[in-house]
Amino acid sequence: MNIHEYQAKQIFREYGVTVPEGTPAFSVDEAVAAAEGLGGDLWVVKAQIHAGGRGKAGGVKLARSIDEVREIAEELLGSTLVTHQTGPEGQVVRRLYVESGVDIARELYLGMVVDRARDGVVLMASTEGGVDIEDVAENTPEKIHKVFIDSLTGMADFQGRQVAFALGLEGKAVFKAVKFMKALYKLFVEKDASIVEINPLVVTGSGDLIALDAKVNFDDNALYRHPAVEQLRDVSEEDPAELEAKKHGLSYVSLDGNIGCMVNGAGLAMGTMDIIKHYGGEPANFLDVGGGATKETVAEAFKIITQDEAVKAIFINIFGGIMKCDVIADGVVNAVQEVGLSVPLVVRLAGTNVELGKKILDESPFDIVSADSMADGARKAIELTEG
Ligand code: ADP
Ligand code: MG
Repeated sequence: MNIHEYQAKQIFREYGVTVPEGTPAFSVDEAVAAAEGLGGDLWVVKAQIHAGGRGKAGGVKLARSIDEVREIAEELLGSTLVTHQTGPEGQVVRRLYVESGVDIARELYLGMVVDRARDGVVLMASTEGGVDIEDVAENTPEKIHKVFIDSLTGMADFQGRQVAFALGLEGKAVFKAVKFMKALYKLFVEKDASIVEINPLVVTGSGDLIALDAKVNFDDNALYRHPAVEQLRDVSEEDPAELEAKKHGLSYVSLDGNIGCMVNGAGLAMGTMDIIKHYGGEPANFLDVGGGATKETVAEAFKIITQDEAVKAIFINIFGGIMKCDVIADGVVNAVQEVGLSVPLVVRLAGTNVELGKKILDESPFDIVSADSMADGARKAIELTEG
C-alpha cells in the first residue's frame, strides 16, 4: 500500500526523522490558511498524488507570497498531473501539501528496500539526489552506495557512518546522519514497510539534514498489524478494478494487453501469462480467483474482466483440484448469463470432473470456445483477438 508524502512525513515526525513544517490542504482556502499558519516568506505547494516525478511535471511550486500560494493552489487542485510514474492518463490532484521553503545546500538520496534474496533491508544512498535519480541508477549505478542491514543485528552505527562518509558529510553532520538513518530503519521494520525513500534528503545552509520528500510503501500482507496505517489509504489513488477485486478476495493486477485472464492459483496465473506472451499475445491482467473459488467469485472475476474495455478476448484457464471443473463451468455459464458476452471466450479446464465441466460449457447457449491445453487455449485466444 502506498500513502501520500504528507502522511509519510507525519510518520517520519513520530520517529524523529526531521522534515520541514507543513500542512495538508484539500481546498484553496485551506492552502492559504496553511501558508498563513506556517508563517515565513517562502512556501512550497506540493501536489499530493501517489506518484513521483511531480517536480518535473509542475506539481511542486515555490511561492513567495500568500497570493502566489492561492494562485498555485487554484491551478493545481483538480488538475491532472502527468509524471513519468503516472502513465499517460495522469492522476487528478485532490490534495495539496503546503510546506515551508527550505534553504537547500545539497540534495542527496536515501532509500531502503527489502532485499528478498538476502532476507534483509538494503540501504541505498547517493550524492546525486534530486529529480534525476532514475537517470543516475540507469547511467552511473556506481554512484549509488549500498549497505546491507542484517535483520538480526539491525543497523549498526558503523554502517551509518559508512553511508554518511559516502555522502561526503563531515563533522557533526555525520552523527546527525547516523541518528537519522537509524530512526528510518526503526520505522521501516516497525511499520512493515517495503520501501522508504527520501529524495531529496537535503543538507541545509545551516548544516541540518532534512527529508524534503518522503515515500513509504507498506507490505500489504502485514497491514492487518497496522490499522492506523490502513486508515491512511486513499482509494481515489488506487485502480478501481483492483479495489473491487480485493473486496471479493481476488488477486487482480491490471496490465496493458488485450487478453483478459481468469485463472485459479498464482502459479498457474503466472504460467498463463507466460504462455500468452510466448505465442505473441499480451495479457490484459493477472487474475487469481484462488484455489477455493466459488460460483460467486467466478462471476465477480468475470465482471471485472469484462469491464476492461481493452479486453478483446477472455481466456479462462482453470485446474479443478479443490474446486471441481463442473462447479467452475456452472460459475462461468452463470456469469455469462448475468454479465453478457461481448468478446470471444476461450475456456480450458483440467482436473476433477473435467468431462462434466466441458459438457456444461458445450450445452450452454453461449458461444464458448473449448481448449484442450494451455497452449491451445492461449493460441485460440490470441487468434480471436485478431479476428
Ligand atoms: P518529486 O520527487 O515528486 O518531484 P519532491 O518533493 O522531491 O517531488 O520535490 C521536487 C523538488 O522540489 C525537490 O528536489 C526540491 O528541489 C524541491 N522542493 C521540494 N520541497 C521543497 C521545500 N520544502 N523547500 C524547498 N524546495 C523544495
Ligand atoms: Mg522527490
